Amino acid sequence: MKEDEIRPQNIFAEYLRLCEQDALTYFVDVPREEGLCPACGANGKFAFTKQGFDYACCPDCDTLYVNPRPLSEAFSRYYTESPSAKFWATTFYRETAEARREKLWKPKARMILEILERYTALDHAIIDVGGGYGLFAEEMGEISSNAITVIEPGPHLAQVCRDKSLRVIEKFLEQVGETDLPAGPRAFVSFELFEHLHAPDKFLACINQLMQPGDLFLFSTLSGTGVDIQVLWNDSNSISPPHHLNFLNPRSIKILLHRVGFESLEVTSPGKLDIDIMANNQDRIKDRFWRTFVSRASESEREQWQNLLASSGWSSHMMVTCRKPKNKRLVMEIS
Ligand SMILES: [Zn+2]
Repeated sequence: MKEDEIRPQNIFAEYLRLCEQDALTYFVDVPREEGLCPACGANGKFAFTKQGFDYACCPDCDTLYVNPRPLSEAFSRYYTESPSAKFWATTFYRETAEARREKLWKPKARMILEILERYTALDHAIIDVGGGYGLFAEEMGEISSNAITVIEPGPHLAQVCRDKSLRVIEKFLEQVGETDLPAGPRAFVSFELFEHLHAPDKFLACINQLMQPGDLFLFSTLSGTGVDIQVLWNDSNSISPPHHLNFLNPRSIKILLHRVGFESLEVTSPGKLDIDIMANNQDRIKDRFWRTFVSRASESEREQWQNLLASSGWSSHMMVTCRKPKNKRLVMEIS
């Protein structure tokens, strides 16, 4: 897969331009709060400033995160009314929906099915948290018999899902109650949401509370120790405030899951784009080896390295599977 197939360069450039403006418009005067590492709770060290947002890196677990963080109300306003959020939901979505369905959602549905199979969860009802346009739910429905419910608070997106005959809970996650959910064992899923969260620990605690012992939670997010992010660092397009606030990694996500009371089952990095992203941003690479590699390596050499990154956990796209333990265990209080 190529980055250009799911993020056509001209449309993506326009989107990034709008984001840069919005980062100023919606956040410049907003009060900010200092916080600790969202994974392990250590004191992060300042890493760099990007578009008016400071990022810190945790010396203990390498989590990269926005710190200090603007208050959450500013993000709610930004996601409801900003030009870049609108552009993403209309132009960007329209232009890329079919390519993303083929290149992202179909393989993702197959991957989720394999994971469910591996943990004998093929009878679990799937709950898609932040299901958006329902593309995952549709594709999952094509290949599995699991009942699927989408949790989607946006009225427009919820209606899009209902029009596709998907079962929708039109609420924010914090408002969802036990009676909203289908009975029986459940597998919660969430894609590319975690990096946006203002309070990742609260989100996980919220999911955990909705789960019964033995239920699964599968989610994907960005890994900050993935190679394109490490190499491009502050110049990486993935490090894009105000959207991406948390970059955990395979090690630090396990620390956080444990703190919240989850049993972590597997953390993989099935990413396909690291090398291609670096090749598309050659002029921003400072490291001599990677600059030479992406300009000289053949297609098949690039592929070998990408496969190695994915299989060894060093790609920037991470997939996490965890479970609410069957034996009752004290869940740490998240303040
Ligand atoms: Zn940490």
